Amino acid sequence: MAGRPPILFPLFAGLETLEGVGEKTARTFAALDIESPRDLLMTLPTGGIDRRPRDSVKGAPVPSVVTVEVTVDRHDPPSGRGRPHRVSVSDAHAEFRIIFFHARGDYVQKLLPNGQKRIVSGRIELFDGMVQMAHPDHVIRPEEAGTIPAFEPVYPLTAGLTLRGFTKAVAAALPRVPELAEWIDPGQKARAHWPDWHQAMAEAHAPQNAADLQPLTPARERLAYDELLAHQLTLALARASQRRKSGRASTGDGRLQDKVLAELPFRPTGAQIRAISEIAGDMGAAHRMNRLLQGDVGSGKTLVALMALLIAVEAGGQGVMMAPTEILARQHLEGLEPLARSAGVRLEILTGRDRGAERRRKLEDLAAGRIDILVGTHAVFQKDVEFADLRLAIIDEQHRFGVRQRMDLGAKGRWVDVLVMTATPIPRSLALSQYGDMDVSILDEKPPGRTPVKTALVSFERMAEVIDRLRRAVDEGRQAYWVCPLVDESEQSDLTAAEERFKALRAIFGGDKVGLVHGQMPAAEKDAAMANFVAGRSRILVATTVIEVGVNVPNASIMVVERAEIFGLAQLHQLRGRVGRGSEASTCLLMFGEPLSEAGRKRLSILRETEDGFRIAEADLAMRGAGDLIGTAQSGLPRFRIADIERQADLMQVAQSDARKLLAEDSDLTGPRGQAARVLLWLMKQDSAIRLISVG
Ligand code: ADP
Ligand code: MG
Repeated sequence: MAGRPPILFPLFAGLETLEGVGEKTARTFAALDIESPRDLLMTLPTGGIDRRPRDSVKGAPVPSVVTVEVTVDRHDPPSGRGRPHRVSVSDAHAEFRIIFFHARGDYVQKLLPNGQKRIVSGRIELFDGMVQMAHPDHVIRPEEAGTIPAFEPVYPLTAGLTLRGFTKAVAAALPRVPELAEWIDPGQKARAHWPDWHQAMAEAHAPQNAADLQPLTPARERLAYDELLAHQLTLALARASQRRKSGRASTGDGRLQDKVLAELPFRPTGAQIRAISEIAGDMGAAHRMNRLLQGDVGSGKTLVALMALLIAVEAGGQGVMMAPTEILARQHLEGLEPLARSAGVRLEILTGRDRGAERRRKLEDLAAGRIDILVGTHAVFQKDVEFADLRLAIIDEQHRFGVRQRMDLGAKGRWVDVLVMTATPIPRSLALSQYGDMDVSILDEKPPGRTPVKTALVSFERMAEVIDRLRRAVDEGRQAYWVCPLVDESEQSDLTAAEERFKALRAIFGGDKVGLVHGQMPAAEKDAAMANFVAGRSRILVATTVIEVGVNVPNASIMVVERAEIFGLAQLHQLRGRVGRGSEASTCLLMFGEPLSEAGRKRLSILRETEDGFRIAEADLAMRGAGDLIGTAQSGLPRFRIADIERQADLMQVAQSDARKLLAEDSDLTGPRGQAARVLLWLMKQDSAIRLISVG
């Protein structure tokens, strides 16, 4: 498709092309992220003012907005600097005052001429026992009575922009709304009683009462759905283009997997078996795998990953697994190596620390097929890293991987099957919007033998008790994590907090018993500190959140988190997941600074109540909002103007199946509904989708 359909041109013109909107106002709108009539129209009223006329201010709640007919009795010009111009008026039953600050006297006289009738609408307040209305919103002649809307919509405003200015701009933009061919499935539209798009726009901007502002009104719901559908179409197109790419069928014969399973001291859970078979199915098919493996901390994703890697090797190829940090990459290597060795599989690690001859040797081995499985950090995807026959790429713990990045990776990896693993339980609505382009396997069953973690909230003032408890645990041969807050990786103060705590704990427990890891440490030191802790040489590990994901030390049974109140719930849940991995009863102590707000206490209490990551994520989402939950900037989450992904999860689900169905029936969007959907994609600025359709 060559470019934006001409029918949409008027909606994408500059704002200043609207009647009554000047360059300056247009710039003011930019502060609200409104740059075109399209943006303007997609900004729906956030409230409304009841302006139905009444007889008198008498009996009206104060303060409130009233609309009454008045007779102008008298003008009192300002009695001094900074004093208002006062106009005494009377309605059917009462007298009151209308006041103007900084107004020219003749302007007010003209607006409200002595002895004449006018209809005024504005907010009344009590001042010195008198009802008064400052700067009425509307002043009109009785014969113009019908021109004040009975219910006036309210829009979000910003400095320099009045409600009247906004309303006028919307009124000028509405006639530009064209009648567009329908992109919504007719059955869905009928079931939901949704109006056409142009009609929905008109209705959404002309609410008749407060009920019309509810997101569930047919007009608003339809407009929300349009956004969700456009987003899901983008994801579905991405998914389809991935699947279309000639994948390689990688079928394992089970020979290596069986060897590894025989070495395991446990049996895979039902959920692990299910996930492995779903992955094997994808890998064995001709299309390219694009799958998300979602499982709470400790659900056993590593084993699933290993089995997938072994399938690639059994099929005669190679696999790569990328972890977000050096520590995790090393831990994967250490966890996988013994198992891989027992199966005769060659494993190697590649990180940013590999340089010179060492790195060159690894790259040569990789290119020659002498390495079967490569584990590493982002370094494994560097340009000069070439595989003999790469068949599977696994990305571990990448909840920050957005749709866009996945598309980029897909472009780079050619025919390679992709498995993304995340330990961040994501509420269904978010999973759909973030990963709707992928197929999903969920590990919803924890390996047996876990003891629940006891969680307690402790005020920072009870530090001495915490230390006591720690001392007893260390005496019993147990280990503990001590996490200090990290607001921003680059902030010196956070580092100091961890270093200070490290020094203080060393003074108490002795130098060799306490270790420290943080993000700014040289990698070698970090690894050494980790290794010391894993081997049990150090008993307490002071850390910033670098230990958040994936680290596995079964003997560690205490997790102390300082200033827990500033962490996200999901993050705390991740941290807590570091303990409770052995047979020992484990404890998580969430230390908070006083005073802790009521909301803060309620938030932390959720962790005390449940260890179910999905429940925690749902609660966190409900309390904080979607952007917050994952960190808006890096979340990869779409931003919607009308739809609310927290409250409209069901609608998102409908949009996903509708989008996939549409593509199944009309894969290149050339049929009548497909054509309409293309217009929707342009309307919703789905650039990446448009690119996908253009290349075909
Ligand atoms: P995560 O999903 O957090 O990556 P891991 O793969 O690190 O979880 O597994 C956590 C721990 O559970 C590891 O010590 C692992 O050996 C163990 N484990 C994995 N699967 C099982 C199982 N089916 N039965 C018992 N223990 C298991
Ligand atoms: Mg893991």
